[in-house]
Amino acid sequence: VYMVVIVKLGGSVITNKNKFTTANKKVIVRLAGDLSKIKTPMIIVHGAGSYGHFPVKKFGIRDGFHNEKQRLGFAKTHLYCKDLNQLVCGALLAKGIPAVGIPPFSTVKQENGRISYFNTQIVKDALHEGLVPVMFGDPTLDSVKHGLPCSGDKVISFLAKVFEPTMIVFGTDVDGIYTSDPKTNKNARLIPLVTHSNLNAVLSSLEEAKTHDVTGGMKGKILELLDESKKCPLIIVNALKPGRLQKAVEGKETISTTFKLNN
Ligand code: ADP
Repeated sequence: VYMVVIVKLGGSVITNKNKFTTANKKVIVRLAGDLSKIKTPMIIVHGAGSYGHFPVKKFGIRDGFHNEKQRLGFAKTHLYCKDLNQLVCGALLAKGIPAVGIPPFSTVKQENGRISYFNTQIVKDALHEGLVPVMFGDPTLDSVKHGLPCSGDKVISFLAKVFEPTMIVFGTDVDGIYTSDPKTNKNARLIPLVTHSNLNAVLSSLEEAKTHDVTGGMKGKILELLDESKKCPLIIVNALKPGRLQKAVEGKETISTTFKLNN
């Protein structure tokens, strides 16, 4: 056990998901400031947002690359994802966080979309040296499809198995999990707490959610992290609202959805 917290910065938070490779620089700088106040060791994982989903669609590599053009598109997509990581790490460094970008492309391999290899030793060693690893949604090699997008959520799910974090805090662009998608249903209600007693109801409310996200949206996220949330609290907060992400990481109460399935 490493006494580490895994913090996700959603692609919807740090980028404008509707505009090709557009970062929310102000939000990134503000979040870096908030994160710099946190004393617990952290692994930060950010989404690819418009640096990933747009290129994946544009180059048609959602199901791997199978020709020259797609191969080039795959490599370009990796470059875009690293560009975003440079921005995030730059902002963190400016606030005094010893952030080191660790690309999934260089550490992860997939087999038909499941992580089959992950060099977590490099993450462990970086933590040991007091550095803050910053991983992200990134295309990786795949033994079946040649190369496939690997979401930040998939990375988190694997890291959580290895590092057994004290908490996973998920910064996104809505206040938590709702009874249905709050962006399309104004009657959607926030679900502050998920326990074994309402878990199935919550999962089926996500069933109805539709998303254009190439890596699964809110439903994909929760299903990806369900096993992990049985071992440590999983908190979903609105990282666009100043202070909430920081409060959640510090274990303070704030508007959120908390999964408490670990007992
Ligand atoms: P991120 O990029 O932050 O990881 P996504 O954009 O993939 O997050 O997913 C978050 C989005 O999921 C929200 O903006 C919201 O529109 C959508 N969503 C769909 N169903 C729900 C739900 N039941 N509760 C909350 N959000 C939902």
